[in-house]
Amino acid sequence: MPQSKHIIIVGAGPGGLCAGMLLSQRGFKVSIFDKNPEVGGRNRAIRMNGFTFDTGPTFLLMKGVLDEMFALCERRSEDYLHFMPLNPMYKLVYADRELSVFSDRENMRAELNRVFDEGADGYERFIENERNRFNALYPCITRDYSSLASFLSWDLIKALPWLAFPKSVFNNLGQYFNQEKMRLAFCFQSKYLGMSPWDCPALFTMLPYLEHDYGIYHVAGGLNRIAQAMAAVIKENGGEIHTDSPVESLLIENGAAKGVKLAGGEEVRCDEVVVNADFAHAMTKLVAPGTLRKYGHEALEKREYSCSTFMLYLGLDKLYDLPHHTIVFAKDYTTNIRNIFSRKTLTDDFSFYVQNACASDPDLAPVGKSALYVLVPMPNNDSKLDWQAHCREVREQVLDTLGARLGLNDIRAHIECEKIITPQTWESDEHVYKGATFSLSHKFSQMLYWRPHNRFEELDNCYLVGGGTHPGSGLPTIYESARISSNLISKKHRVPFKDISHSSWLKKAKA
Ligand SMILES: Cc1cc2nc3c(=O)[nH]c(=O)nc-3n(C[C@H](O)[C@H](O)[C@H](O)COP(=O)(O)OP(=O)(O)OC[C@H]3O[C@@H](n4cnc5c(N)ncnc54)[C@H](O)[C@@H]3O)c2cc1C
Repeated sequence: MPQSKHIIIVGAGPGGLCAGMLLSQRGFKVSIFDKNPEVGGRNRAIRMNGFTFDTGPTFLLMKGVLDEMFALCERRSEDYLHFMPLNPMYKLVYADRELSVFSDRENMRAELNRVFDEGADGYERFIENERNRFNALYPCITRDYSSLASFLSWDLIKALPWLAFPKSVFNNLGQYFNQEKMRLAFCFQSKYLGMSPWDCPALFTMLPYLEHDYGIYHVAGGLNRIAQAMAAVIKENGGEIHTDSPVESLLIENGAAKGVKLAGGEEVRCDEVVVNADFAHAMTKLVAPGTLRKYGHEALEKREYSCSTFMLYLGLDKLYDLPHHTIVFAKDYTTNIRNIFSRKTLTDDFSFYVQNACASDPDLAPVGKSALYVLVPMPNNDSKLDWQAHCREVREQVLDTLGARLGLNDIRAHIECEKIITPQTWESDEHVYKGATFSLSHKFSQMLYWRPHNRFEELDNCYLVGGGTHPGSGLPTIYESARISSNLISKKHRVPFKDISHSSWLKKAKA
């Protein structure tokens, strides 16, 4: 197809890059503008003194979705990326015990039997039943909900019982596991959406299910390599990626997006605009007040958002004997959750996650050294916490806790370089509204038809991709948002495209 229709994409995060890859493959002229010097957004690399860190995503789930996106571009993901399955997937550290979490059922059963005295029967039922739930819900999650007609589908009606509304993930797990600590091993994943397991809708039990049935992956060089691979495909297809090019505003005429105005003042016009910048940030900063109603500045202020994170990236002149992924639970987990989500306060008893990627990928640090990534869930900026005042104190607490809970008592002496991201810097530097790193909350009233539509309902010629639109936050769902928006644009311009039925990689339920 001649490159007749021009698509501008605001943001080269996973959503923007995946859309750019699909649209350029279909012959659209694609121009991506990103404010950063490098592609990837929250999925880009941080490089310091020979150390490499992923800024955000470190768990690749549902690799099959990523493979499909490359297949849609007539490519094999393996030709661009070296995938490394992790088994054990991660270690969980409680105040009184530790659990290694395996992706194969035999080792997992044995480990559950070793650590919990209620055995592993519930685990088998969890896998079988949650596989049925996932297989029923996945076709609904990957549909376009830009109109009421597309929302009310037979797929959704069939899947309604599997929504288990209004149960939470924590409650849903009660049918498989009795002990709270055992349930925690299968519900802390709600934090991947920045939610409490007690509030996160039961359908998201699919997150632990997917880990256990499909496994998780690291990518050699870090997950940022996925963003780089997608950018390579876009360029191979003739698309343009302009880094260091902040968009100042969307050009809007008569209720339709007509292009973008760049920070330097230049205006670039196009046929369709795809917004990948954080949704609430984009609608409050790139669109003049008074233009939007449903998602106007005041309406967005009142929506519910995910939690934030305090990030510490440490370049260390020593190797530590830590697994690739470790999740440490606060001694009082429920109080920690309340402090993050309801009270929105700081606490010295916090849960945290540590990635020691050099354990399986030594090239991420100079020889004999290690790159440690520490993520501490924190309240989003509705807390009004002054992070300039709290940053040093929280850093010290995190280093103390790495000593107390993981035995890294000498860590201060081995720090060669470091970088911190606070909820405030997520907002100011990374353009994440309220510093809510996982976007709009994934409660029912902000999901499916009630999440900002992929064909944006308030502006013509405007489409959304990324964590703030349907289906939601997380790399695979973000790639799905790119597929949905790209298909809508292709249909509008009558450009034929190939689609693969989503389920090529789905495991079937037992007969
Ligand atoms: C700490 C953390 C850990 C995470 N861990 C995981 C994980 O393990 N697995 C997983 O699947 N997901 C994870 N996620 C969630 C999610 O996958 C990532 O946040 C993902 O990067 C979001 O992609 P996106 O496309 O929505 O937006 P972003 O990555 O935020 O990309 C948006 C892009 O828009 C650009 N932009 C913004 N404003 C402008 C402007 N005015 N002009 C031009 N460009 C602009 C930004 O520079 C950015 O490049 C994690 C997220 C965080 C924050």
